Amino acid sequence: MNEPQVTVLAGPTSVGKSTMSRYIRENYPAVCFSVSATTRDPRPGEVDGVDYHFISAEEFDRLVEQGAFLEWATVHGRHRYGTLRSTVEEALGAGRCVLLEIDLQGARQVRRTMPEAQFVFLTPPSWEEMVARLTGRGTEGPEEQQRRLETAKMELAAESEFDVTVVNDDLDRAAAELVALMGFQRNAV
Ligand code: 5GP
Repeated sequence: MNEPQVTVLAGPTSVGKSTMSRYIRENYPAVCFSVSATTRDPRPGEVDGVDYHFISAEEFDRLVEQGAFLEWATVHGRHRYGTLRSTVEEALGAGRCVLLEIDLQGARQVRRTMPEAQFVFLTPPSWEEMVARLTGRGTEGPEEQQRRLETAKMELAAESEFDVTVVNDDLDRAAAELVALMGFQRNAV
């Protein structure tokens, strides 16, 4: 059987998905990472076109109308994020494995439209560890942190909807497990 070509990585808020994505982009260049569009502002150090395509709400509306998104969602009740069809189609057209790091709502949409994809749930080693990660990041205020924690609790319960769980206990180890699930050998990428 061929390895699945599309892998969806989701998991609770602050489990370290974006750190994992960045790590994979930097260490496993053979993995094609789907750069999402978002209406949120860049955080310090984030680069347009690399971390996200940072676009206006109007531009996002236009893309929704055009059917340009494979999936999209409003995350934490605030900003919109979406996977561009063109990104995924180009990667698949080039015969490359593509990784989508998206939220749970988006993963459920992809499950409906692309059931042949591989769905990986990234989970924290413990709840305490996740709270520490969220509060330690310091980029969001207390209200935003609270909102994210509430979302995270619900999201943790979604693990059973996924094909595989990867525990984010150690970034290097967990990333190696994820890329192995995508069919890559550690030293070949
Ligand atoms: P952040 O603002 O911290 O970068 O991301 C917030 C959340 O948005 C994360 O849970 C991330 O997985 C999710 N996200 C990022 N890109 C997409 C996307 O294209 N679609 C969906 N549905 N969620 C996304």
